[in-house]
Amino acid sequence: MINVNQLKKSFGKNEVLKGISTSIDKGDVVAIIGPSGSGKSTFLRCLNKLETASSGEVNVGDIDITNPKVQISKVRQQIGMVFQHFHLFPHMTVLENITYAPIKVKGLSKGEAAKKAEELLTKVGLLEKKDAYPNRLSGGQKQRVAIARALAMEPEIMLFDEPTSALDPEMVKEVLEVMKDLAESGMTMAIVTHEMGFAREVADRVLFLDNGLLVEEAEPKQFFTNPQSARAKEFLEKVL
Ligand code: ADP
Ligand code: MG
Repeated sequence: MINVNQLKKSFGKNEVLKGISTSIDKGDVVAIIGPSGSGKSTFLRCLNKLETASSGEVNVGDIDITNPKVQISKVRQQIGMVFQHFHLFPHMTVLENITYAPIKVKGLSKGEAAKKAEELLTKVGLLEKKDAYPNRLSGGQKQRVAIARALAMEPEIMLFDEPTSALDPEMVKEVLEVMKDLAESGMTMAIVTHEMGFAREVADRVLFLDNGLLVEEAEPKQFFTNPQSARAKEFLEKVL
């Protein structure tokens, strides 16, 4: 579904991705782990061209999105993204947040979009909040709305960039539960996370990034019990 070949990205003279190659197949759940500043967010953002690669290829399906001629808005419709800080529209209700893009971009009627939104809100356990504004919600609730909003576009793949890092500890679990359900439903997911327990339990594969390089790529069990690289060992000793 996604194929990355020798992806490099620099900001000015700072090369933050130094040639990353990997692929994500349909149904894969990939956890992206690594120290702060290692390039995890930049890597994720290159997958939907929120950042433009400096060189290399990023294929989404059979489209190379590094091609400047590509119509990225079309490709982005297949890719849902969830950010650390939710990015909900503050002046819209929960329901309006979720129905906005399906109506505007997919051309759904208001009624169709609302029906779909209510189904998704039921899934994330927030139907009773549909008429609330974001500022009335807890962080965990906001993030569950953000996930529902991304899912409303019926993406092929979901990207998560530290979805629980901005949450109070007691709200982390409710968001991880929603993500776990999504993973079990077969969604293709790439998740930047510091939740090692979650990565170990839910991911099919761990990508360990350090200093712009994909240092290790392994099944979680292997990665967490027997990391191959010194850098992964050192990282795990600090965080586990
Ligand atoms: P991570 O998500 O692993 O913490 P990032 O991908 O956010 O790492 O950042 C990797 C490096 O790229 C950091 O040194 C960061 O300062 C730099 N960086 C990220 N985004 C930008 C940007 N828009 N402009 C300049 N430098 C950036
Ligand atoms: Mg980051």
